[in-house]
This record gives sequence, C-alpha cells and structure tokens, in this order.
Amino acid sequence: MRDRPDITPKVELLPGVDDAHPFHMISMTEWLGALPHPASTFSFQDNVLKVVAVNGWFRKYFSPDASEPARPQATEWRRRIVESILSGRDSDSFELRREGTLGPEYFYCTIGRLPELEGQPNLFLFTALDRTSDRSIVKNLRRELLSDGLTALPNRTGFGEEIEDRLANMSWPENAQFGIIAIDLSRFSRVNESLGPMAGDELLITVAKRLKSSLRQGDVLSRIGGNDFAIFAKLNNGLSDALHIVQRIRDALNYPIRLSDLQIRVDCAIGCALSASLTEDPEDVVRKAQAAVKIAKRSGKVEIYRNGVLKEAQRRFSVESRLRDALAQGGLTLAYQPLIHLQTGEITGFEALARWNDEELGDVSPAEFIAVAEESGLITPLGRWAAYEAAQALSRWDAKFGQPLPVGVNVNLSPIQMTRDDVASMFEEALRYSGITGNRLTAELTESAIVADPEKARKLLFALKDLQMPIAMDDFGTGYSNLASLHSLPIDILKIDRSFVTNMLDDRDKEVMVKTILSLAESLGLHVTAEGIETQQLAHALQNLGCWQGQGYYFARPMAEPEAFDYWRARWNFETV
Ligand code: C2E
Ligand code: MG
Ligand code: MG
Repeated sequence: MRDRPDITPKVELLPGVDDAHPFHMISMTEWLGALPHPASTFSFQDNVLKVVAVNGWFRKYFSPDASEPARPQATEWRRRIVESILSGRDSDSFELRREGTLGPEYFYCTIGRLPELEGQPNLFLFTALDRTSDRSIVKNLRRELLSDGLTALPNRTGFGEEIEDRLANMSWPENAQFGIIAIDLSRFSRVNESLGPMAGDELLITVAKRLKSSLRQGDVLSRIGGNDFAIFAKLNNGLSDALHIVQRIRDALNYPIRLSDLQIRVDCAIGCALSASLTEDPEDVVRKAQAAVKIAKRSGKVEIYRNGVLKEAQRRFSVESRLRDALAQGGLTLAYQPLIHLQTGEITGFEALARWNDEELGDVSPAEFIAVAEESGLITPLGRWAAYEAAQALSRWDAKFGQPLPVGVNVNLSPIQMTRDDVASMFEEALRYSGITGNRLTAELTESAIVADPEKARKLLFALKDLQMPIAMDDFGTGYSNLASLHSLPIDILKIDRSFVTNMLDDRDKEVMVKTILSLAESLGLHVTAEGIETQQLAHALQNLGCWQGQGYYFARPMAEPEAFDYWRARWNFETV
C-alpha cells in the first residue's frame, strides 16, 4: 500500500482539531468504498479516459464493465467527464440525465483533479449523487399543483402564484387595480353528456385557446375548475378596462366551435370583481368573481361584484325564482288578523296578509317577498291571487256559517300593482266570482300609491267606490300625502301606522301624532284604525281617545283561514275590549 499524504486534509485546516489522528495506509478503492454514493477515480492521458478505481455504488449504477458499451447512454457520462477535464478547471459539476429502467434518472456529478501522485499526474475523482427521486417528486408536485393537465393553463393554485408574481414584478401605476374575470361555460356539461368526454376536452382546449387570444400582455388566463376559467387583468381604468376585456372574450367565443362534425356555440356566463387596492388578497377577489359569475348564470348578464351587494342579490334572485314557482303552484297562503271595534269589542273584519313558507327558504317575511315581487313584476299575479283568495275565503266562511258573516276582509294593494294592473276590474271579477258584495272587501293602499300618480289613483279609487268597496289608507303617518288630497279622495279609513301606536304611551311625540290623526280624521269624517296594539293598556287608551278600530297582537296574531273563522265564531257578540 502506498503512502499518499497529500490526499489527507492538513491538520491546521481543520479548526478545532488539534491533534490529527495518525492515518492508515489505505488503498484508493478503500477510500472510495467509504462513500455512500457512486464514486470512482479516472486517469486521463493522451485523450484516453481510464477507470482507475471504483466503489460498489459506481459499479451498480455506472457498470464500467463489459456490458457497458451495449448501453448507448453509458457513454454520456464519459463524454461529460472528458469535457470537464478538458475545460482545465480543477473541479466541475454537472447534472447527468440518463434513461434508467424505470424512466429518467438524474445524478448530480462532480469531477475534481486529485493531487499528483508519483508518476500519475492526471488523476480525477468522480462522484455522482442520485437525485432522481427528489427531482421527480418536485417536478410532479409542481406540475400537478400548478397547472391543468388538459389545457396546460395554470390551475387555481398556479393562478394564485402567477398573480402574486405579476403583482410583485409588473410595474403598477399608483391608482391601478387588478380585476378577476370569471367565465363559466354554461352548456359544457351537456356537451360532455351528449358527445362524450373527449369532445368535452376538445371544447375546453379550443375555448382556452380563444380566451388566450383575447388577453393583453401581462394578463393571466387560468382554468380554475371543470368548466370555469378566470382571467387576471391589470386595470388602469377600472371597470371600463374590465368591460373591454369582457367584450373581447365575447367576441372570441362568438363564432361556433367545430367538434368533429358539429358546430357548437359556447354560451358563457361572465362575472367580474375589481380589487379595492393592490394590497387586497387576490384569493378574495377570485372568490368574489366566482360569486358574481353564479349570479350571471341566472341573470344572463355580465355581473360585476360590488361589496356587500352580492349576498343580497343572491338572496333576491333565489327569492324571486322560488316565488315565481310558489305563485304558479299555489304555494302562498293568506293569514287573517282580526280588526276589533274598540268601543264594542266586536270583530268587524280581518286583514288578509300574505304568508309564504318555502321548502328551501323556509318562512319568508312579506316585507321581503312583497318587495321582490314589486321589483320583478310578480306583484301583479300575487295581488290578483290575494284579492281572489280573500273574496273566496269570505264566501267559504259564509257557506260554513250558513249566512253572510257580518265581517269583511281587508286586502293590501301595492302601489306598483296599482300602476301595472287594472285593479278595479280585478276586484270586480273577484267579487263576482265569489258572490261577495263589495262592501265586505276593503282595499288597503298606501300614501305612496297616491303620490306616485294622483290622477290615476283618483280614478281607481272612484272605480272601487262604484263597487261599494271601502278604502283604507294603510301605514298612515309615514308618508307625505297632503291633507287636501285626502279630502278630495273617497277614502273611508285611516290606519295609523304601528310605529306611532306601539310606543305611544311612552313617547309624547307619538301620542301627539296619534291624537292629531284622530282629530284630523274626525274633521274629515273618516274612521281610524290603530295598528300594532300589543297591550290592553294601549287598547284602553285608544278606546278613550275615541279611536274606532284596533288591530294588534293584544287581540290576535294573523291566523290561518279556519282558525280565523273559529276565532270569530267563538267571540262574536261576547267580546269586550
Ligand atoms: P301592513 O299592511 O301594514 O300589515 C300589518 C303588519 O303588521 C302585518 O305584518 C302584521 O302581521 C303586523 N302586525 C299586526 N299587529 C301587530 C302588532 O301588534 N305588533 C307588531 N309588531 N306587528 C303587528 P306582515 O304580515 O309581516 O306584513 C307586512 C306588510 O307586508 C304589510 O303591512 C303589507 O304592507 C305587506 N303585505 C302583506 N300581505 C300583502 C299582500 O297580500 N299584498 C300586498 N301588496 N302587501 C302585503
Ligand atoms: Mg295593510
Ligand atoms: Mg299597515
């Protein structure tokens, strides 16, 4: 065994080691055998590379024996080693990729010149660290994590990374924003179902290409879900920039896509969300755009997310569509709340109040669904239904009792319904159909109905009077109607709004308001109903003030039709306030 003192590190170069252990005389092969990865030494002379010594790992992976020439890629590492040596550097490294039996293998290789040994000037140490599993894990993970295999676009995660990258590395003017445009291919599932998943894939790829063509430099397109795409866009001019991109998207998808023998038109729903600032979390903006696209699917329009509006709008849309079904399928009912003659305690009538319990939405309050009905135009069928139903209820009660009950029913009219529908004919038909006389059906309308179009309201009120119907002014005190107009209109009853009545005993202003309305009514010859009577004390106070009629939880809550009838029959002639 030869002594090779120069391979040993110098003692003074090893900090903390004061006394070097005496080294042993060991062979080159033994040195290499101590390494846990392929290693070998080569000599390079006259342009010929020769193996001097190898360890077991090297033999296993690089097999420099007879079988070697049969593997063409085996020459690659030799070529790279020679290249490194010829470069004249004392040490070098490179990555070696070769086809292994289970796919590509990656080695991190180093080659370094060894100190000259007696008569052997060109000796080199070669090591190779197997990086195959690290490389493939990282590569697969990144690929799977960040991109969509079909379109090669970034997926949702990749999209997030791309956005972060753009936000960090693009130049952004001071008041710039970014926007997310979400695109949902509406009929995609039908293509998948009818033409098969291959056609579906082809469609997605084509759409991806077209969408890509509508992008500007710096925009990012991604496929964030099955048939959902999203675009990140820098906006220098806020919404108007976003709408330009939307227009380009529509143009790009406008002409049909060819799938085998078929021409398919892609419908898409588009929703946008704009960042409040560049520091807003892009994930939040993506979510908002996705929420907007959901609404767009129902509305058929491009929807822009605005803070806070979304939840309400979503709710409104579902209330509207469920209400439409409910009206078509008879899903609404009327509840009847007794109206009490405050001096005698008699039940003079009932107010019919619409009730809706929906399978999905549960109980929806009239305040909510009447507003939606007014916005959507559903108030016309709803109002018609309520008028017919109320008149029918009266006729059913009459039939049950064997003769006409000495009570009437009040029906609420929406101002929108009054402008859109022929309310007078509606009541005429409802009365005729149920055989009820007009004096038993009171129309409750609000001041706003008169303010909106006084002339039309006037005509309607007179038409209702021709039907003998009493007319009540609902929620009185909350609107702006001038007293002169009240005087010239055929109004019979003022219903003082609950907001004045309920707390009137604790609030002087309210009490004054109630008293004023009572004296105004007296001077105009009108009856007054007080809404929202919740206590006996209040009932007595109003009785003492000479108020004609009362309504409220103290007497009874609104009840279903049969209960209302029982309530009336149990009390009529016996009631005291
Ligand atoms: P409104 O016509 O002023 O009806 C009176 C409302 O006050 C009813 O609310 C009733 O349940 C409630 N109420 C009665 N007594 C009391 C009480 O002592 N305390 C309290 N806190 N509330 C009391 P509801 O049923 O929720 O109806 C709300 C509004 O919805 C109605 O106000 C009416 O404007 C509208 N509405 C209900 N049904 C119809 C309908 O068929 N057509 C139209 N156009 N509007 C309707
Ligand atoms: Mg009312
Ligand atoms: Mg009211």
